Amino acid sequence: MTAAPIRALVAGNWKMNGTTAALREPRLLAAMLKGVKLKCDVLVCPPATILRRAKAVMKGSKIRVGGQDCHAAASGAHTGDISADMLKDAGASMVIVGHSERRTNHKETDAEVLAKAKAVHRAGLTAIICIGETLEERKAGKTLEVLTAQIKGSVPAESNAGNTVVAYEPVWAIGTGLTPTTAEVAEAHTHIRAELEKAMGAEGSQTRILYGGSVKPSNAAELMSAANVNGALVGGASLKAADFIGIIKTYM
Ligand code: PEP
Repeated sequence: MTAAPIRALVAGNWKMNGTTAALREPRLLAAMLKGVKLKCDVLVCPPATILRRAKAVMKGSKIRVGGQDCHAAASGAHTGDISADMLKDAGASMVIVGHSERRTNHKETDAEVLAKAKAVHRAGLTAIICIGETLEERKAGKTLEVLTAQIKGSVPAESNAGNTVVAYEPVWAIGTGLTPTTAEVAEAHTHIRAELEKAMGAEGSQTRILYGGSVKPSNAAELMSAANVNGALVGGASLKAADFIGIIKTYM
């Protein structure tokens, strides 16, 4: 039996950008996509402070909202942190964990990312688990080794294709305008697919693997055409509806 094709996901990570005024962008996005038959799912991850309102302005559209990170615990004495249950309560259906900015700026380890991904699963949400090599690691020829270690260390054993998405984000491509070649993307994604199949069996063949790192309307089609790429995780170009839709168009 042939496996069903994987439905792509285009996810926008707003990072620490956007107050109430920025809500016009998801409103515009929902209006632009009205009546359009999409061949992908679309997710917007705004700051938690406007998550609920972002969902409200896109009401009636199929665009989902997600969180950008969460604590590994469901509740407790963790001043300033936010739990997966809280994000769910605000309307999130997915949560990004293990983003390289968290791994670098907050020194998050694979074990911490794993605990966060498990917390996302416990809340009944989908974890978007980010992995990717630094420039030094790529130059040293260690890319695939790094990806294997991050998958082993941060993807929960009980993951399935419904509750888990893996985002390959080369650290050196994030926010820099630099991108790997299509062949390099294909090599990394094909390796990730094989590792997910080893870890998750048949579920690993159906799990979405997103590419992230300087995706923009002008390069999206080429990057998305690489083998085993099932969508994109987009930072800067997701902030403006006009740019984000240029990427989503790859799947129209
Ligand atoms: C990201 O932050 O996940 C990202 C891919 O950023 P950018 O698209 O701006 O490189």
